[in-house]
Amino acid sequence: MEEIDAAGHLVCPGFVDNHVHTLGGGGGLGFSSRAPEIQASQLARAGITTIIGMLGFDATSKNMAALVTKTKGLREDGLSAYCLTGATLEHPVPTLTGQIRTDIAFIDEIIGVGELSISELGYGYDSFGKGAQYVAEAAVAGLLAGRLSRKAGYCCLQVPPYLKQILKPMFEVVDRTGIPITQFIPSHVNQSDGYMQDAIDWGLRGGWVDIGANYSPENNYGRATLPHKAYKRLRQAGVPAEQILMSSDGNGAPPKEETGENKPKVANYMPMRALFAAWRRVVTEEGVDVSEALAAVTSNVARATGLAHKGEIAPGKDADLVVLDKDLEFVHIIARGRSFVTNGEPVRRGMFEQTLINELT
Ligand SMILES: [Zn+2]
Repeated sequence: MEEIDAAGHLVCPGFVDNHVHTLGGGGGLGFSSRAPEIQASQLARAGITTIIGMLGFDATSKNMAALVTKTKGLREDGLSAYCLTGATLEHPVPTLTGQIRTDIAFIDEIIGVGELSISELGYGYDSFGKGAQYVAEAAVAGLLAGRLSRKAGYCCLQVPPYLKQILKPMFEVVDRTGIPITQFIPSHVNQSDGYMQDAIDWGLRGGWVDIGANYSPENNYGRATLPHKAYKRLRQAGVPAEQILMSSDGNGAPPKEETGENKPKVANYMPMRALFAAWRRVVTEEGVDVSEALAAVTSNVARATGLAHKGEIAPGKDADLVVLDKDLEFVHIIARGRSFVTNGEPVRRGMFEQTLINELT
């Protein structure tokens, strides 16, 4: 039994990050642009004790077997890890067992489908129409498999943020099919003003709205709204706090948007710690109540993704705890009852982390 004196500190549930590129994202700028696999203490040190991982853009050199394996590995390292079946641009998506529904129904780690692009060519392009149609089919497969296996079976969406359509094909999908709007999680809604406006409409209709902590002018997204400002804007527009989520898109590495015409494109790495930093500014700069802000990275995410044992400090829930001092700095981080950070210092790491540190320094 370990006893921790938390007098004068704030004890919060461990953060649940619903959008992480566990195997490393990127790959869109040649073979050397594939981001490395995430390390356990990279997550834990950022206050994130539960993740939901996904493949992303590169499902050519990476696959579902590797993703499920990595997810199991993070569990062995002491964290809570889940994943989604599928990839961003392949329609139909790659799976482990051959079908979305059997992946979700029978693989413990897989709780939904995504991240799936509405557009055939990804985030810079409008959909030709078939993109949204395929998203609807994938969402139904997830919904039905979720009912079979007591999972959310939800669909994580990548949405083209800059052109005309943005989230509009999804309103049509919801209207025409009757798929509950809560089966979808549109990702990083703060990428552009147009997307923010669609996200407000989506939220006012009862949908989840997910703010991307790494999408900001401070991280080379000149057209994005700062995450803490996006939170405030959603609330001011009337979106209920219970429907707002925040995630990192962490360990992703898309091409940098703000590179000049004649400069070579470089990858824009998405650090895990951005989630905590963005969350903190919701409290310190926007004056949002700590409990309300915490819900966006804990209990709301757990409800949206169907992880009933996560996101709250309560009897029967997992012992994932983040202890903060009065300045909202990390003191202790505990995942599934085991300390990863004690008095601000990492005390537990994944199997090869110390070796990597030694090799690189
Ligand atoms: Zn992503």
